[in-house]
Amino acid sequence: MSEIIAIDGPAGSGKSTVARAVAAALGWSFLDTGAMYRALTAEVLRRGIDPHDDEAVAAIAADATISTVPRVVINGVDVDETIRSEPVNVAVSAVAANPAARRAMVTRQRAWAAAQPVGTVVEGRDIATVVFPDARLKVYLTASLDERARRRGDEGAHSVARRDSADRDRVASPLRQASDAVVVDTTDLSIDQVVEEIVRWLKTPN
Ligand code: C5P
Repeated sequence: MSEIIAIDGPAGSGKSTVARAVAAALGWSFLDTGAMYRALTAEVLRRGIDPHDDEAVAAIAADATISTVPRVVINGVDVDETIRSEPVNVAVSAVAANPAARRAMVTRQRAWAAAQPVGTVVEGRDIATVVFPDARLKVYLTASLDERARRRGDEGAHSVARRDSADRDRVASPLRQASDAVVVDTTDLSIDQVVEEIVRWLKTPN
């Protein structure tokens, strides 16, 4: 198993941007697990399935072929743009609350990281707590709701707050700060400052 940096946090905390930049700084791979749940949601909606239909969603999750680089593709359909649409923003938390669908995604996430010849920076909601509990470094990013909504632009503060509560309150792998995670509040920090802090933590012997 290659080395892992696990980055978790709520919507708009800076996870994707920061994780991608940390991976680039280290020459490591990067995995956006939110894009996987979004791709699954896009496929559920494309097939006209109710995102709350646990059995139907789990069946799609079990069979789906998903890639996130260079573009997000599920079952051969490029959903790179669709996954940022409002219908997906609204439905993704219900899909991500499905325990069987999560198991299917977690299996893919572990396999993907294990196949990388270098380390992997993985970002999501349950990466440090569930997917890679033995990660070399665990980071929990936060930021004020105002700042997170500003970063999410069109989605709006109401939708961001609703998605956060759904992700925190669900039974299956809720968004939680791992007890051994380093917490970084990104509200007033630049991307470079956050990346520097994470790289510094990586080099700090524990
Ligand atoms: O990170 P992003 O905002 O793209 O994630 C979209 C949604 O996917 C989250 O609101 C959450 O419901 C789900 N998600 C998850 N577990 C992860 C990553 C994302 O439940 N590891």
